[in-house]
Amino acid sequence: MARNGMPTDEMPREDAYRMIQDDLAIDVAPARNLGSFVTTHMEDEAEKLMANMLSKNIVNHESYPGTTNIQNRCVNMIAHLFNAPTQEGSVDAVGTSTVGSSEAIMLATLAMKKRWANKRRAAGKDHSKPNLVMSSAVQVCWKKAARYFDVEEKFVYCAKDRYTIDPSEAVGLVDENTIGICSIMGTTYTGEYEDTKAINDLLVKRDLDIPIHIDAASGGFVAPFVNPDLVWDFRLEKVVSINVSGHKYGLVYAGIGWVIWRGAEYLPKELILNMNYLGAEQLTFTLNFSRAASHVISQYYKLISLGQKGYRRVMLDLICMADYLGSNLEQMGCFVVLSKKHGQGLPLVAFRLDPAKGYVFDEFAIARELRRLGGWVVPAYTMAPHSDEVKILRVVVRQDFSHAGCDALIADLRLALLRLSMAGPGQG
Ligand SMILES: *Cc1c(COP(=O)(O)O)cnc(C)c1O
Repeated sequence: MARNGMPTDEMPREDAYRMIQDDLAIDVAPARNLGSFVTTHMEDEAEKLMANMLSKNIVNHESYPGTTNIQNRCVNMIAHLFNAPTQEGSVDAVGTSTVGSSEAIMLATLAMKKRWANKRRAAGKDHSKPNLVMSSAVQVCWKKAARYFDVEEKFVYCAKDRYTIDPSEAVGLVDENTIGICSIMGTTYTGEYEDTKAINDLLVKRDLDIPIHIDAASGGFVAPFVNPDLVWDFRLEKVVSINVSGHKYGLVYAGIGWVIWRGAEYLPKELILNMNYLGAEQLTFTLNFSRAASHVISQYYKLISLGQKGYRRVMLDLICMADYLGSNLEQMGCFVVLSKKHGQGLPLVAFRLDPAKGYVFDEFAIARELRRLGGWVVPAYTMAPHSDEVKILRVVVRQDFSHAGCDALIADLRLALLRLSMAGPGQG
């Protein structure tokens, strides 16, 4: 591969700008990227706020107390949304903003690991072999967290007809070295919600002192508005921490996540550093340090401008669009839809070719054809291990997926199927 050094000469700014635009021409239009959960559109006011905040470093609490207050308000609002118990002697919830759910999950993993190790140490027991119980449908960041922080992964494998965690198997895998169980509010494969209540109730019934962390990267800003009666969050006594991506259904551009703990006792003191930065004492418990304040500010803007009602309206719109797409796919007669309808999961459509029809092409060929026909990015995946090698296509419904866009996608899908059927085996 060629390695480009930095040019020796200066270049007029407008030339550099134009050159970069040319290099970017091969990227797909973000609105046509139906594979991603990450926000690809924000309104002018939000973009203006973000641009204005680019020059402020979020960690500098002493210089930017207004920014710090806004970040704390976001933590409190999100903790409230997840029904965190109120803290004795403090009005503030325990949590922080992060770069995304990955950083949030690393922090939550560290907190569970430290808490477990401290307890083992106090009891004079070995604390060298921590493990974490999780479904094999976890997002890749869990593998990172396990590897980077030396925690063994204990997988509850998916099955042919089950793409989420089996609660009794999960609790059955628990041993004295288990630091916690991860439960996913909206798996990346089918968008299904894992049954945290069943895990919680089994732990309570068997009197097991094992914490649950909820990976609500996507579902954290969906379920509370669409299914307020679904009990998955801090209302369950074993749930100690929850992460959510602000840049997914929190409706902010890429670069923000949140992690909330049930209370101060679940975030070991060793993880909180008191920095004396530019003359002021401040507490920090993140992996990263400096970052523009833009994302936190635009998260706050979304929270206050939409409010509970606005988020509910947006999420219900997305759910309707997903249902509309799902029913259209079913009516075509060649697909089986695997995701849940009517808001029982994330607003996405996961589907596969009907295996009974014996098609000579597969889901990966359809994905390639859609890319060629309309520039659509509709990823094809092989499902989580032990799901019998099932292949799926997945469309994530975001706010910038319009009705017209949805109909155009359906038309291109029909065309793709026609072309692949005519091309015969081994084509596409
Ligand atoms: C997206 C996602 C993550 C990773 O989140 P980032 O915000 O992209 O770091 C983790 N878990 C689940 C379930 C996700 O959907």
